[in-house]
Amino acid sequence: MSNPLVTRLREHLGTAAVLTDTDVTDAYSRDMMPLADSGKPLAVVLPSDVEGVQAVVKACAEFEVPIVPRGAGSGLSGAANAIDGCVVLVLTKLDQVVEIDEGNRLAVVQPGVVNLDFRNAVEKHGLFYPPDPSSYDWCTIGGNLSTNAGGLCCVKYGVTTDSVLGLEVVLADGSVLNTGRRTVKGVAGYDLARLFVGSEGTLGVITQATVALKPLPQLPSTLVAAFNSTEAAGEAVARVVREGLVPSLMEIMDATSIKAAEAYLKTDLGTSADCKALLLAQSDSGGEVARRELAALEQICVDCGADLAYATEDLEEGKMLLQARRVVLTALEMYGVWLTDDVCVPRTRIAELIAGCERISEEVGLRIAVVGHAGDGNMHPTIVYAQDSEEEFARARKAFDAILDVALSLGGTVTGEHGIGRIKREWLAKEIGEVGLRVHRQIKQALDPGNLFNPGSMFSL
Ligand SMILES: Cc1cc2nc3c(=O)[nH]c(=O)nc-3n(C[C@H](O)[C@H](O)[C@H](O)COP(=O)(O)OP(=O)(O)OC[C@H]3O[C@@H](n4cnc5c(N)ncnc54)[C@H](O)[C@@H]3O)c2cc1C
Repeated sequence: MSNPLVTRLREHLGTAAVLTDTDVTDAYSRDMMPLADSGKPLAVVLPSDVEGVQAVVKACAEFEVPIVPRGAGSGLSGAANAIDGCVVLVLTKLDQVVEIDEGNRLAVVQPGVVNLDFRNAVEKHGLFYPPDPSSYDWCTIGGNLSTNAGGLCCVKYGVTTDSVLGLEVVLADGSVLNTGRRTVKGVAGYDLARLFVGSEGTLGVITQATVALKPLPQLPSTLVAAFNSTEAAGEAVARVVREGLVPSLMEIMDATSIKAAEAYLKTDLGTSADCKALLLAQSDSGGEVARRELAALEQICVDCGADLAYATEDLEEGKMLLQARRVVLTALEMYGVWLTDDVCVPRTRIAELIAGCERISEEVGLRIAVVGHAGDGNMHPTIVYAQDSEEEFARARKAFDAILDVALSLGGTVTGEHGIGRIKREWLAKEIGEVGLRVHRQIKQALDPGNLFNPGSMFSL
């Protein structure tokens, strides 16, 4: 016999948009984070417009069935994981770029649009949407908004929230909230748009966003610098910050990442045998300004003791240099499966974080490679373990938590961009404290009194 909620959803959305076959629904039941549990959904629904989303929310509220909103499922916190008996609300069919307003440099976009497709769409108008998570060729704008995603160019352009002007959100009672603005400035009322950004599907369903765009930057020039100590690389980062230089990208790789990338690419990156860290930086200012910016960055690296510092304006050569950074996760798969952490520390303390990861690696007996966005302090220590070994998995979990502890002890945060989800709930409590948690719960209760959206994710009530 059919479930009455499923019957109701099919009446509203049509049979094809309501999936219950477990072979199919299993594919929508978890994201990319191996540490998080997932349950069996009652149904997976794929509405194609805001009215469809409202119908799902109203029906689920009436039947008291929880909703887990979902984009592409590329998340790394378990935040899109199904819980038993829930409805997984997939937003990928709301996939239109509604408007591109060149004059005001803004766009209106639905949540199911893939980040790269959106970037390409605005680029045709000479415009640039900065947020660029490494998963940009498959993650969605809705997922990016809900996790406040970052990426390689945050150091200059900020994270997703820095591009958001306004949102349309379906609330727990099925009503539609339009919040924010289309103007450059605007301070009317609480900044509700930013409250929903990063709320990981716990407060409402984002069905449309108005985002600010930038002019297309110039083609990037690239600098690579090699250091025989992580402290020297860390000092170079700190000096870049202190002197007010703003590269469009500044990444760091530790010795373990460098070795993995070299083995994978079957190449020697030109560093000496005792190279402990690589810094990669870019300027997208173009022409003489970029030349000056890169020269200043190079000088800082040399002053801080870099063994090698090399700058190029050649686009292809720059891409080749950056490739070493981009392949690290894939390269680590040569040794096992990876579990990537996501902490952010003050930019003066990056070397201490790397040292902490080296110590933890020795303690747990597992390889830990540190790569990260040095320009904003957001590091991704990545633990490698054998897929079939429960014992190694347990050690990886231990290392994952130990890294969070080190980050907090350095005055950092337990997540720079991936979010809390189902894997860092107790760490959120540790970081924000009792009063912070109470305010979170009060906001959740005010907006979602029935605990309809993503219950148990981020924190419990
Ligand atoms: C290889 C790899 C590299 C990555 N690199 C980066 C990176 O550089 N930077 C970064 O920030 N992240 C990165 N990520 C993590 C992930 O891609 C981002 O968190 C991304 O924003 C998730 O988008 P998604 O569409 O896959 O969302 P999902 O994983 O499906 O969902 C993420 C969260 O958003 C909620 N949600 C989704 N859509 C909506 C909506 N419309 N309304 C309300 N809630 C919604 C879900 O409930 C969940 O809480 C990476 C992941 C992988 C696998």
